[in-house]
Amino acid sequence: MTAKRIDGKAAAAAIRESVAAHVAEFQRRTGRAPGLATVLVGEDPASAVYVRSKNRATAESGMVSFAHNLPDTTTEADLLQLVTDLNADSQVDGILVQLPLPRQINATRVIETIEPAKDVDGFHPINAGRLATGLPSLVPCTPFGCLYLLRQELGSLSGLDAVVIGRSNIVGKPMAQLLLGESATVTIAHSRTRDLPAVVRRADIVIAAVGRAEMVCGDWIKPGATVIDVGINRLPTDDGKGRLVGDVAFDEASQVAAAITPVPGGVGPMTIAMLMRNTLVAAHRRAGLEDPEGL
Ligand code: NAP
Repeated sequence: MTAKRIDGKAAAAAIRESVAAHVAEFQRRTGRAPGLATVLVGEDPASAVYVRSKNRATAESGMVSFAHNLPDTTTEADLLQLVTDLNADSQVDGILVQLPLPRQINATRVIETIEPAKDVDGFHPINAGRLATGLPSLVPCTPFGCLYLLRQELGSLSGLDAVVIGRSNIVGKPMAQLLLGESATVTIAHSRTRDLPAVVRRADIVIAAVGRAEMVCGDWIKPGATVIDVGINRLPTDDGKGRLVGDVAFDEASQVAAAITPVPGGVGPMTIAMLMRNTLVAAHRRAGLEDPEGL
C-alpha cells in the first residue's frame, strides 16, 4: 500500500480564504477589522521566521497586524506591562507571545497575564481548563489543525483508537483532549512509556509530537492507520542548508499507512491557518457576535 499524502497546504489555503471572506463581513458589521498583536522577544532566527509568517498571513486575511519586536534583554516586568497594555487595547483581538522566551522571563507568568478572551494560542489555563471540560474555548492552533485534517480524512473519529506521542501543553495534551471530545479512545505516550512500538501498533490514528527525527518507524504502524506528523526536525546536509523531517520515517510509514501528512507541507501550514481562525473567532466573541460559520 502507498499511503495518501494529506495535503495540509491545500487545507490551510482553504481555511485562510474562508477567514478572509468572514473578515470582510466582520468589517462591514463592526466598522473595523480584527487585530492580532504578535510579540517577539530576542533574535532567535526560527522564531523570527514564524512571527514574520504569522504577520504576513494576518495582513493577507485582511486583518490588522500589530508587531512588537523586543530586544533579548527585555525584563519580565516590561513584557508583562506590554501584555497588560495589549489586553486593554480595543483594536487588539488576539495576542500571541512567541515562545521560547529568554531565560530571565517566566513564560507561565506571561501566558497567565494574557486576557483569556484574546489568548489565540489557547495556552492560558482558563482555555486549557475549558477545553478539558468540554466548554467553548480558544483551542491551541497546532492540535486544532491536526483535528481538522483528521476530520477531513476520516469523517467521524468515534470509537477509533488514537495514540498521541508527546504530552506537552502546546501539542500533546490538547490533542488528546480534542480526540476525546470526538469520542476516540485515546492513549497518551511519552518518554517513560514502555514498549512504545507495541502501543503505537494498536492505533488507527497516530499523532507524533515528539521532536525526534524519524523516530516512528514503518513497522510501528498498523496497516491502514492515519498518521499525523507534528514534528519539525532539521537534519544536517552536505550543503549546510539542512533538511526538514518529521518525527515519522515518512517513506517507511507510507508503505503501511492509509494516509499520512508530509513534513513540510502537512501540519505546519495548518498552525498558521488556525491562528487566523482563532483571531477571527476571538474578534466575533469580543464584539458579541455569533462564531463565524463553517470554521
Ligand atoms: P516538547 O515540549 O519537547 O514535548 C515532546 C514530548 O515528546 C514530551 O512529552 C516527551 O516526553 C516526548 N518524548 C521525548 N522523547 C520521547 C521518546 N523517546 N519516546 C516517547 N516520547 C518522547 O515538544 P512539543 O512542543 O510538543 O513539540 C513536538 C514537536 O512538534 C517538535 O518537533 C516541534 O518542533 C513540533 N511542533 C510543530 C508545530 C507545527 O506547527 N508543525 C507546532 C508545535 C510543535 P516527556 O514529557 O516524558 O519528556
